Amino acid sequence: MSRTDVLGVGFDNVTKAEAVERALELIDAREGRYVVTPNPEIVMLAKENPALKEALAGADIVLPDGAGIVKGAAILGRPMKEKVPGIDFACGVMARLAERGGSVYLFGAKPGVAETAAETLRTKFPGLVISGTSDGYFSDDGPIIEKIKDAAPDFLLVCLGAPKQELWMAKMSGKLLVGLMVGLGGSLDVFAGTVKRAPEAWQKLDLEWLYRLLKEPRRIGRMMKLPLFVIEAAGERLRGK
Ligand code: UDP
Repeated sequence: MSRTDVLGVGFDNVTKAEAVERALELIDAREGRYVVTPNPEIVMLAKENPALKEALAGADIVLPDGAGIVKGAAILGRPMKEKVPGIDFACGVMARLAERGGSVYLFGAKPGVAETAAETLRTKFPGLVISGTSDGYFSDDGPIIEKIKDAAPDFLLVCLGAPKQELWMAKMSGKLLVGLMVGLGGSLDVFAGTVKRAPEAWQKLDLEWLYRLLKEPRRIGRMMKLPLFVIEAAGERLRGK
C-alpha cells in the first residue's frame, strides 16, 4: 500500500486497530523488522538528516504519532484515518501478547527506569512476560545486543529518543532474534511514572503537545519547529505539490 507523504516522510494510513493486527503478523513472521512513530518534530529533523529519513522509510510500519501529523496531512489534502500515538499502539500489541504469554524487552531511558516500567506493565497486562531490560546510556551496544539475542523477545521497545532509536533499529533490522522492534521515545518514563502523560480530555482535544510543553518548558526550543511544520505543509499545498 502506498504511503501518505507528509513533508518527505511516508506514513501508513491505518487505524490503531489495523496497526496492531499488522504488528502481530510481523511478530509471527519473526524477521526482526521495525516500526517508527514520527511526530512533527521528527519529520522536521528528517529534512536535515538523510540517515534518519532513510531509517524512517525503511520501517515496516510508519505511524502518525499525534495530532500534528494528521493535521499536516489534512492541510496537504491527504486525509488520514486517525492519529496513532506510539504508546497506545504498543499497549494494544502488549495486551494481545499478554493473552498468549508473549514477551517484551524494554530498552532505553535512564538506569532503573525500565525496571520500574516493567513492574507497571506486569500489573497492567497480566500474562505478559518481561524478558529483559537495559538502560539507554551506553558507550558500546555490544553487550546489550547479546542480552537481547539471548532473551529473544516477541516485541522490543527501543526508547532512546529520536534520531538515536530510529538509526539503531535501522542498523539492527533483520539482525536480532526478535519478533518486532518499535521506537517509542520517552514511553518508558511514562510507564515508570517519572513523566506524566496528558489527561485523556487533553488527548481528545489534540492538546497533548501543549500539556507537555507546560510540564517541561525546556522543550520550547524543540517545539519551535511545530509552527514551521504547519507553515511548510501549507506552503506545499499552495504550490500545488
Ligand atoms: N534516552 C536514552 N539514551 C540517550 C538519550 C535519551 O535512553 O542517549 C532516553 C531518555 O532517557 C528518554 C528518551 O530516551 O527516556 C527520550 O525521551 P524524549 O522525551 O526526549 O523523547 P520523545 O518521546 O520526545 O521522542
